[in-house]
Amino acid sequence: MRFCDTHAHYDDEAFDADRTRLLGRDLRDEGVEFVVNMGASLEGAERSAELARRYEEVYAGCGIHPDEVGIFGEEGSSQALSVMARLHGLLEQPKVVCVGEIGLDYHWMVQPKEIQRKWFAAQLHLAAELNLPINVHSREAAQDTFDVIVKHHTRAGKTLSGGIIHCYSGSVEMARAYVKLGYHIGVGGVVTFKNARVLKEVVQTLPLESLVTETDCPYMAPEPVRGTRNDSRNIRYVIAKIAALREMDEEACAAALLKNAKDVYRLA
Ligand SMILES: [Zn+2]
Repeated sequence: MRFCDTHAHYDDEAFDADRTRLLGRDLRDEGVEFVVNMGASLEGAERSAELARRYEEVYAGCGIHPDEVGIFGEEGSSQALSVMARLHGLLEQPKVVCVGEIGLDYHWMVQPKEIQRKWFAAQLHLAAELNLPINVHSREAAQDTFDVIVKHHTRAGKTLSGGIIHCYSGSVEMARAYVKLGYHIGVGGVVTFKNARVLKEVVQTLPLESLVTETDCPYMAPEPVRGTRNDSRNIRYVIAKIAALREMDEEACAAALLKNAKDVYRLA
């Protein structure tokens, strides 16, 4: 079975001991066709781009996570302009395939909501300008995330070119609305958890073409390895669950989900 991971964090120190072996060989040998490593901070984005340069099967997302948007400082300041310029530079590198992860996090609330929304919107504009898909983090902020994306969908004649709503945790109705706008729904370890009732309904009722697989590793390991350090090989458990929920063959399910991810990131 061949599959892929649309959202991972192999630059995390949890992989310091075996990153080279995993990305250089083990993942590929166990069916992982490619991984998209997400930058979350500016340093993370730089590490992400570096991993993409070093390893054939790794691509990168570069963006500033909502917890990290303090780095922009004041709007219009030289600090803000310099961070944007560095991000812009990274996003033009050949194996950098999306702006991510970006979004809103009202759980930790490291930055006030209004500041988070401002820099989320600014990075959406960057994505539109560069014609890149986005990878969206949204925690306890489902409606605001959707509203910001809708509001900035088209600006100055440029339209956002879709992307992935990572670790999707919203309603079935909202998932449908995202798909209508051209987005994909990121499904990871959570779908294997007992209490993930709504996500299971999303997976059962949305078109298969709108789903993609992800880990968010080192976090979010699926059952039956929940609680351990996660890596992209565990996506096979996620695929088994999606196939079971949709009552379809696992191989066919994996092939379809792989194609969806290639479509989003334009790797086909
Ligand atoms: Zn993540």
